[in-house]
Amino acid sequence: MPTTPHKILVHTCCTACASHVFPELENAGFKVVPFFYNPQIDLSPEYTARLDDLKMYCEDAKLELIIPNYEPKEFVEILTPFKNKESLKYISDKDRFQRRRCALCNSLVIQRTIEQSKRLRIKYFTTTLLCSPYKDHGEIIEIANEKALDYNLNFYYQDFRKGYWKGRNFARNHEIYAPGFCGCSDSLKEKRLE
Ligand code: SF4
Repeated sequence: MPTTPHKILVHTCCTACASHVFPELENAGFKVVPFFYNPQIDLSPEYTARLDDLKMYCEDAKLELIIPNYEPKEFVEILTPFKNKESLKYISDKDRFQRRRCALCNSLVIQRTIEQSKRLRIKYFTTTLLCSPYKDHGEIIEIANEKALDYNLNFYYQDFRKGYWKGRNFARNHEIYAPGFCGCSDSLKEKRLE
């Protein structure tokens, strides 16, 4: 934990999670720089709904929000070899494919967050994905720590899951959109099947 405010680049998936994670990071002594990199949200209305609320939240909180180009094909492309029956990497088993898909997704998001941290010379990074009780924290920690070493950066881990419902309540009380599914169109279908 830093003694003076260090900037931290925070990959941010939605405002509901951000509303818990950002104050927690500030309490831990960081200056938050939100980064809305989410190509895995491959449905444009969903992407826009999340981004619009985050813009408003950041404006109110006087946070400088970083928004890279929206390129859902980045996410689609990493999955293609695993979906294509002609490919040697093709995974026919639904559960195995789902696990691989989420690992690739987390890895992509963390990789781009790190690259942005490097560009901005921000030494710390983390993600609001750690607010979700549905995420595999062990997997995110492993990916993030490994990449952080490669890039000489610091991954900040905190278990934000206890604030998940707090974030949902914040969203409800402030008329902010709280996503009902993880992000990609597959996760929306899976949600509908539950
Ligand atoms: S379910 Fe979530 S983590 Fe998994 S691929 Fe979809 S958006 Fe990414």
